[in-house]
Amino acid sequence: MILDQFNLTGKVALVTGASTGLGQGMALALAQAGARVAGTDYVPCGETAAMIGPGQFHSILADLMKPDAPQSIMDETLERFGRIDILVNNAGIIRRAEFYEFGEQDWDDVMQVNLKALFLLSQAAACQMVAHVVPGPMQRSWGKIINIASLLSFQGGIRVPSYTASKSAVRGLTMEMANELAPYGVQVNAIAPGYMATNNTEALRADPVRSRQILERIPAGRWGAPSDLAGACVFLASAASDYVTGITLPVDGGWLGR
Ligand code: NAP
Repeated sequence: MILDQFNLTGKVALVTGASTGLGQGMALALAQAGARVAGTDYVPCGETAAMIGPGQFHSILADLMKPDAPQSIMDETLERFGRIDILVNNAGIIRRAEFYEFGEQDWDDVMQVNLKALFLLSQAAACQMVAHVVPGPMQRSWGKIINIASLLSFQGGIRVPSYTASKSAVRGLTMEMANELAPYGVQVNAIAPGYMATNNTEALRADPVRSRQILERIPAGRWGAPSDLAGACVFLASAASDYVTGITLPVDGGWLGR
């Protein structure tokens, strides 16, 4: 049955940046599809835990600015759930300033969270995924890595040089990982959210001019909500996408086609 392909019962997912916004929305969607979810953030994921329930959700406190965070997050996930089948690299930060005065620290911080931590966590997850052959006729491993990219994986943006560089690199790295992991039965894809109403876009939404300009350009005529990523996330996390790898799927209300 086609709907069975979307069922994540028995799977374990790890979602970064799961305390709020898009990460919280995707953690909830994966749990609703049946997965047990480890959610990590540098503040407690209390609200997300309350939405999902204690038996199905485990909160991991870790700061992705710290170099050893990816491995310790993976270790705690395995300690709690014994395996990892799905990784959602969602945590991300943005810093805004004119290009000619953009600070080196802002460059490094954004690259650390948005790109280096994503690379290290994906590497740690891939090592686990490829090591386990799933019983059945295929005789190979199973795993899904979903990276959260951006419209700025396709466009340049303004006043966000490190964010654009990091998110364009996420799109490239998604294809690279997909090429190397496909033979093992592990698919790597990305989602490029459009303009979504979260903390990340609070400054933009508070600016009446920018907010109006953005809204006028979205064919769907509204900002996205965290729940708008649920379908794409569950699709890319499930057997329904077993022959899909290396793509960056825009979920943007039509923005990129305009
Ligand atoms: P958000 O509400 O700011 O959530 C980002 C999450 O990442 C938060 O939970 C945040 O924790 C966490 N995080 C930040 N720094 C961290 C660190 N050092 N260690 C661990 N966790 C950290 O933003 P969002 O809009 O949901 O964004 C989620 C992802 O989507 C990001 O990668 C973002 O770039 C991407 N995205 C968002 C939009 C949009 O319009 N909102 C569009 C395109 C792409 P705290 O809450 O504690 O800071």
